[in-house]
Amino acid sequence: MHDNILPLLETHFYSVAALLVIAIAGLCWLVKYISMRRLSRYLHKAKQEAREMAQISYLNPHPLIQISRDNRIVYANSAAYAAFPDLGKKGVSHSALSGLTDHFEIEEPIVREIALGTKIHHQTIAPVMRGDHRDLVIYCYDISQRKAYEESLRRSEKRAENAQMEAERANKARGDFLANMSHELRTPMNGIIGLTDMLLESPMKEEQKTSLKAVNKSSRNLLSLLNDLLDFSKIEAGELTIETIAFRPVDLLQQIESLHGPVARSKGLHLITRYADQMPDFIMGDPSRLLQILNNLVSNAIKFTPQGEVTIEMDGEAQERASFVFSITVRDTGIGIPKNKQQSVFAKFQQADSSTARKYGGTGLGLAITKDLVAIMQGTINIESAEGEGTAFTLSIPSKIADETDIASSHEALCHQNFSLNLNAKIMIVDDHPVNLLYLRQVLTRAGFEGFDEAASGHEAVELYKSRAYDLILMDCQMPDMDGYEASRQIRALENNYLTPPTIIAVTADAMKGAQAKCLDAQMNDYISKPIEKMKLLQILHKWIPGAAMTEFINLQNTAQIKQPDNDILPFDTARLHDFTGGKKDIEDQLIVMFLESLREDTAKMEIALRNDNYINWDEAVHKIYGAASNIGAYALAKLCDEAQSLSDGDNTKIMECHQAILARCAEITAILQQRAAA
Ligand code: ADP
Repeated sequence: MHDNILPLLETHFYSVAALLVIAIAGLCWLVKYISMRRLSRYLHKAKQEAREMAQISYLNPHPLIQISRDNRIVYANSAAYAAFPDLGKKGVSHSALSGLTDHFEIEEPIVREIALGTKIHHQTIAPVMRGDHRDLVIYCYDISQRKAYEESLRRSEKRAENAQMEAERANKARGDFLANMSHELRTPMNGIIGLTDMLLESPMKEEQKTSLKAVNKSSRNLLSLLNDLLDFSKIEAGELTIETIAFRPVDLLQQIESLHGPVARSKGLHLITRYADQMPDFIMGDPSRLLQILNNLVSNAIKFTPQGEVTIEMDGEAQERASFVFSITVRDTGIGIPKNKQQSVFAKFQQADSSTARKYGGTGLGLAITKDLVAIMQGTINIESAEGEGTAFTLSIPSKIADETDIASSHEALCHQNFSLNLNAKIMIVDDHPVNLLYLRQVLTRAGFEGFDEAASGHEAVELYKSRAYDLILMDCQMPDMDGYEASRQIRALENNYLTPPTIIAVTADAMKGAQAKCLDAQMNDYISKPIEKMKLLQILHKWIPGAAMTEFINLQNTAQIKQPDNDILPFDTARLHDFTGGKKDIEDQLIVMFLESLREDTAKMEIALRNDNYINWDEAVHKIYGAASNIGAYALAKLCDEAQSLSDGDNTKIMECHQAILARCAEITAILQQRAAA
């Protein structure tokens, strides 16, 4: 085969070569032709796109102008000529382009607003390169309409603001008027109540007494309405401020129990309080406003419950950090509120039923104030009720767990309080221990009370009460022969002799719940625990016998009672002694003599009781030492006695240990006080 082809190639070489050259040249031409066609198609397309793009700027409904540095208008679209018809003639000196020469050096686009006759234009000015030249492109946007709209908005906002200010001014004027009026009205109203109280004690005909009692009752109702109105006007005028101090939530429940327990019991209702274990000892808040809220809810619950029970539950939940939300539910088994009235009862002067005022009295302001107070505390109040079954109001209030600093500073604030007291109130103080009587006498005298009677036993108190009416009795609970509970019962039984029953405040060494229930059972109104803190005593007096006299007490030293760590307890706190005596040496000497005398007597009684295996007498003597020691500031001794009182009969080894420890402490404190008296 090869042999055939080669001779053939040799003979036709030139013809084949020529054919090949022609074929290659044709191919090259073909390739060139195709790429030229493609190139021209691309060029055509690019030209078309460029034209379309130019069209975009041409068709743009907003003026677009390009100017060169040598003051020529390079380009202006039709919108520019429509907006500024003399643009071409005036060139760059046109008002639409005023000040642009300053902008030729800019690197970034700038934006400005420019007033052109009645129009306002928003201009964006940007530099562009045309070959080696730097031009400016100006894009204008007519914002006259938007500006006019904004202006009208501003004007109507201003009008609304003025109207609101006017309304607030009117509201404040109304609030001020209400506040002033109710304040002015309260003063004569207090006078009427005081005078009718006094008149009622004088002899008069039965029908006169009935009328006078009606005057007295109506005045009291009117006064409570005025107080509500005053609060309301304060809230409306934005003047009601909420305090934030550390307080013990359990105290709040105890106060409510003491205030409302007697009324609930007199109606045959059970008043039950529940306090969740996880509640902290101290939280931050406004205890007096919370008390006001609870007073309203609990008195409503008692008022609208013919039988069954009223329960007050306090619960809480710790949140992040020290935040704490606590809730209080006041639940009753009363008449309930119809579904369609459940929200309207929170409105001013609204009662669930038109017959409510006639049947139960009231004004319909309480819940409105409650709701506002809760809102000021940033809390919520909810209602659940079923007609004929009962009602539950639940408050939920954000708070904070109080730390030591909060507690100390709140106590300090408490120490600088003003108390308004009725110094004309007739007071009896009852205590079997001379030191305690001296202490009470001191505090009352320094508060401005002059005439008050003293009784050294339950018997004496009852006898004194038979001869004279009292407004308030401070009654020690544990006394030999007749204790404070029995004395209170007997006084309550005699009460009908006088028109106004006395307020009986139990003074108890035992702050536990059981002791409190015991006081309330004995028909006492409130209680204060030993050692009596001056501020607490004044607060209680202010609560039960408020009046016109302002008493300011500064009591900074007395912080020892606030959560002192056990190992810091002082054998003897001179601050308390100073507080007691007001720094007067003669009173201090008298007190020391009195205290050491009683200590000798009581320790002797302890020894005898122990020898005779008489636990009751031993405990009684220990209790007496506890009261006197805590009052004088012998806290370590008081603490030992307090612990000894929790022992039970038969715990002989422990009793013996305690006995020895108390005697040792007594010897220590005797030495300290003798030294002090001699100094
Ligand atoms: P007031 O008690 O002076 O009438 P409030 O604002 O305290 O005013 O209460 C408004 C109304 O709500 C009451 O008149 C009563 O109709 C209804 N109400 C409030 N608490 C209770 C309750 N615990 N049970 C039934 N009704 C209640």
